[in-house]
Amino acid sequence: MSKKRVLSCIQPTGEIHIGNYFGAVRNWVDIQDKYDCVYGVVDLHAMTMPYDPARLRENTTQMFIDLLACGIDPKKSVLFVQSLVPQHTELTWIFSCVTSYGELSRMTQFKDKTSQLEAEGGKKNFISAGLFTYPVLMAADILIYKAHYVPVGKDQEQHLEMSRNIAVRFNNQFGDYFPEPAPLYTELPKVMSLADPTRKMSKSLGEKHYIGLFESEDSIRKKVKTAVTDTGSQPGGEMSPGVANLFSIIRACGNLQAWEELNKQFLNGTLKYSELKNVTADSLVNTLRPLREKRTELNSDRTLADKLMHEASAVARDYTTRVLDDVKGMVGLIS
Ligand code: ADP
Repeated sequence: MSKKRVLSCIQPTGEIHIGNYFGAVRNWVDIQDKYDCVYGVVDLHAMTMPYDPARLRENTTQMFIDLLACGIDPKKSVLFVQSLVPQHTELTWIFSCVTSYGELSRMTQFKDKTSQLEAEGGKKNFISAGLFTYPVLMAADILIYKAHYVPVGKDQEQHLEMSRNIAVRFNNQFGDYFPEPAPLYTELPKVMSLADPTRKMSKSLGEKHYIGLFESEDSIRKKVKTAVTDTGSQPGGEMSPGVANLFSIIRACGNLQAWEELNKQFLNGTLKYSELKNVTADSLVNTLRPLREKRTELNSDRTLADKLMHEASAVARDYTTRVLDDVKGMVGLIS
């Protein structure tokens, strides 16, 4: 029986943090044998907000390298850079014509980002049509591979719903062609900010709040040391969010024996937070070391990395060209 296809994409934002890794990318690596996986670095999506061209190009290459360093294997999975597969944008136009304006205006992420831009720069700030239509590009990213599943978090559900609507409308209008992509839910850890453990770890909160996946060991140890642990609760009582976050990081690193031992100490009131932090830092350093080494190796030969990026994207181009030919034929274009 052929494997079901899973598609997931990441924007080239510059630096992955441990939240992205434990909460998404590591799962991508883990499911490579079980599913027929397609992963993408979606640089076109990064153009919807104000950006710097040189940085976008560098971030895209770096994200490709980072995914390889994390364990995405182009021999097992398709790994494309979106702008190297122009079939996505061509399908976006075709899909724009089966998407309603009203549907797009109801997207909460558009509303959120628009108000963020307005708050930053007042009404004068530029809001691109790309920001408005990017859920259509996202639908094209998913459907052009005829993906069965998309791993999603709660905030992405609305976009997947949109892709399903587009698939259904296309199929009704032109004939059954696209499978309706379903969400793939997996229980994954949510990593909280170190400086404010009531909030999700995110780069936008600032340096103190996150740990970059490839940060130096020194820096990891320093950040863990200064992590907020307690907000006045008693050892043995309810776990404070900061302490729970460190426990969850130890678990995510697979250091289960230490986790159990420390948890016993917590329950009988003998846990020392300095010890908890030492174990957290050691677990992270040991888990991330091989990834950092692999990344350094890949970064030392950018010509090779560039070649790998083009070769991997060519696989996606071959597949999507065939799909686009079918679609063009169905919608009445010369193919
Ligand atoms: P998104 O806007 O899709 O959340 P991000 O770049 O913030 O984009 O995150 C990329 C992936 O990493 C997503 O799958 C997201 O759910 C996951 N992620 C981000 N931050 C965290 C976190 N603090 N803990 C767990 N997973 C996270």
